[in-house]
Amino acid sequence: MNVAAKLEQIRQQINEACRKAERNPDEVTIIAVTKYVSVQRAKEALEAGIQHLGENRDEGLLEKWNILQDKPVWHYIGTLQSRKVKNIIDKVDYIHSLDRLSLAEEINKRANGPINCLVQVNVSQEESKHGLHPEEVVDFVRSLRPFEKIRVQGLMTMAPLTNDEQVIRDCFRRLRELRDQIQDCHLDFAPCTELSMGMSNDFVIAIEEGATMVRIGTALVGEDG
Ligand SMILES: *Cc1c(COP(=O)(O)O)cnc(C)c1O
Repeated sequence: MNVAAKLEQIRQQINEACRKAERNPDEVTIIAVTKYVSVQRAKEALEAGIQHLGENRDEGLLEKWNILQDKPVWHYIGTLQSRKVKNIIDKVDYIHSLDRLSLAEEINKRANGPINCLVQVNVSQEESKHGLHPEEVVDFVRSLRPFEKIRVQGLMTMAPLTNDEQVIRDCFRRLRELRDQIQDCHLDFAPCTELSMGMSNDFVIAIEEGATMVRIGTALVGEDG
């Protein structure tokens, strides 16, 4: 299937999830994760109507950034080493993986202006995953105040690898509760409106639990045919 056909299917699933959750589909941004695919495939996604692209490595981002003419909104979704910040900082619109003060410091130092950040949370507390433990998140966000270029636009998480739908749902719900808690702090540098959660296998559940950004790779731009 081509990207346009897959996008159509995904849009239908999003509409159905929104109907169930009594949400407006306009609240959900689809980020096409192009980390596995060619520039050509990324171009196909843009031609199909996708406006947001996500990459998880600086090399992949730079390659596509340099070639693609219709500049999409760029999301950096991967673990970010501090020494790589300078490579991507003036190319991306959102960084989804802010998870430590030293990284905030580097982003703040290198950015030319305000930069949209999402704080990554390891809700499921798996050893293999990056991100803050849920109990640390509110204090961490408060501690970002001195970094005047960082705007905390939301939170990001990855659900655990499991077939247990309830476990996945609980993970997403916990992220939403944390988001609401931060909003209740009324911090001018942390409007925290976005919830970046849901990938190919679990975006429907994520939307039912309030996702505003879904990061979809395989199901949207994955294998041809
Ligand atoms: C790869 C990746 C995705 C997309 O994964 P799919 O399962 O292919 O949809 C989403 N988010 C992050 C952080 C990723 O690294």
